[in-house]
Amino acid sequence: MKLYNTLTRNIEEFIPNEKGKVKFYTCGPTVYHYAHIGNIRNYIGHDILDRTLRYLGYEVTRAMNITDVGHLTSDGDSGEDKMEVARNREHKSSMEIAKFYTDAFFDDFKKVNCLMPQIISPATDNIDMYIKIISKLLDDGFAYTSGGNVYFDTSKLDNYYSLTNQDSNLVVGARESVLEDSNKKNQADFVLWFTTSKFENHELLWDSPFGKGYPGWHIECTGISIKYLGEHLDIHGGGVDNIFPHHTNEIAQSEAYLGHKWCNYWFHNEHLLDETGKMSKSNGGILTISVLEEQKYNPIAFRFMCLNSHYRKQLLFTYDNLVQAQNTLNKIKGKIAKIKDEGELQDSRYKEYKEDFIKYLENDLNTSNALSILYKLLKDSSVNGKTKIKLIKSFDEVLALDLIVESNDINNELDEEILDLIEQRKEAKKNKDFKLADEIRDNLLKKGIKLIDSREGTTYEIIKD
Ligand code: AMP
Ligand code: ZN
Repeated sequence: MKLYNTLTRNIEEFIPNEKGKVKFYTCGPTVYHYAHIGNIRNYIGHDILDRTLRYLGYEVTRAMNITDVGHLTSDGDSGEDKMEVARNREHKSSMEIAKFYTDAFFDDFKKVNCLMPQIISPATDNIDMYIKIISKLLDDGFAYTSGGNVYFDTSKLDNYYSLTNQDSNLVVGARESVLEDSNKKNQADFVLWFTTSKFENHELLWDSPFGKGYPGWHIECTGISIKYLGEHLDIHGGGVDNIFPHHTNEIAQSEAYLGHKWCNYWFHNEHLLDETGKMSKSNGGILTISVLEEQKYNPIAFRFMCLNSHYRKQLLFTYDNLVQAQNTLNKIKGKIAKIKDEGELQDSRYKEYKEDFIKYLENDLNTSNALSILYKLLKDSSVNGKTKIKLIKSFDEVLALDLIVESNDINNELDEEILDLIEQRKEAKKNKDFKLADEIRDNLLKKGIKLIDSREGTTYEIIKD
């Protein structure tokens, strides 16, 4: 399998440390607010990688943290802990806030069919591990105490910027944060452990050999990853905004602590944009998967929309795109529902289609091309129903689009006809023939097809009897 590696800026052959086994770490959400659909796009990208590796026969062990302390509003060392921001906003304890948004996150995560990582660990559960790592870094001269905080000394490394290809813009970012913190020896140094001297009102504090305080954001992922996945990691992933400073700092402290290379492949997902630019939680209104669902969109249509684009390309979210994705997905599912699971399995055809599907996934997870194999299969009259159904079930192990709907649960109406009727209803409304418009809607409903109107147009949902 070939995968783009941010560390080398190349698409490389993926070779795990241990044959057939993959240790995979994903940066989890900061649970100070709902995860927006941009965050979820990132986890769908990780899910496709996870599922593809399993599909190819690897035994995957995957870990993800839940950031419930230490992530400051700047992503660096300035600003306030995001959990403190939420505490002031909602007048609840940090742990209450963390629990509420962690549950909300996994609700949405499951709604888009993301597999749960085997290991999910909140940052606050691993304080001992951070203390162990920071103590060793201090002993070995990679860290220093200043103004009460413990900092990582980036001047001790020759290749601190290896992940960012020495990107000078990122150095400027570091310079800005150092101006606010005169305790640092070098502009790029970062905090491993904060003490109360920096943020006096912080709720969550732990005793440590370096003073009462709390861990920095970056040390969490290093600690959790090494604790649960060991000293050699195969793949570490996150969104592109994690490359600097978060992952750059993770590499610095992990490799200084371990004394050897830590992670071989760095996997980064591009952002989901809205009309205002990058989606973010601090931008005010947060568009979540659950909100889309309340608006009657199918969360899986959002997943389908993501799979139509490559994970390393930016993707613009619009309701138009979502409606289009939902209609296309319904059309595909309608076609699949009509396939009769009959005949003898055509072994060679089965193998041929599966190989083509895998070929695209193995090429840096080209999901849109993998989908094109599904479309080709649906049109191919030389493949019988039995073979088609078996292939579709197999493809759906990776795509996870709920492609197979039991035939009793679905109405066999031709999907083109539904879309046609939607058009006729639109025309009728335009001509103020509301009687006809309502008739079309009611007739479809009787057949188990519910129309969903929104400002962006009409889509439909196939409802069970
Ligand atoms: P956070 O909860 O802020 O720690 O973010 C969780 C994950 O979502 C991180 O790995 C981010 O890189 C990723 N992320 C944040 N914003 C976006 C976006 N607009 N599109 C895709 N991924 C994002
Ligand atoms: Zn992380």
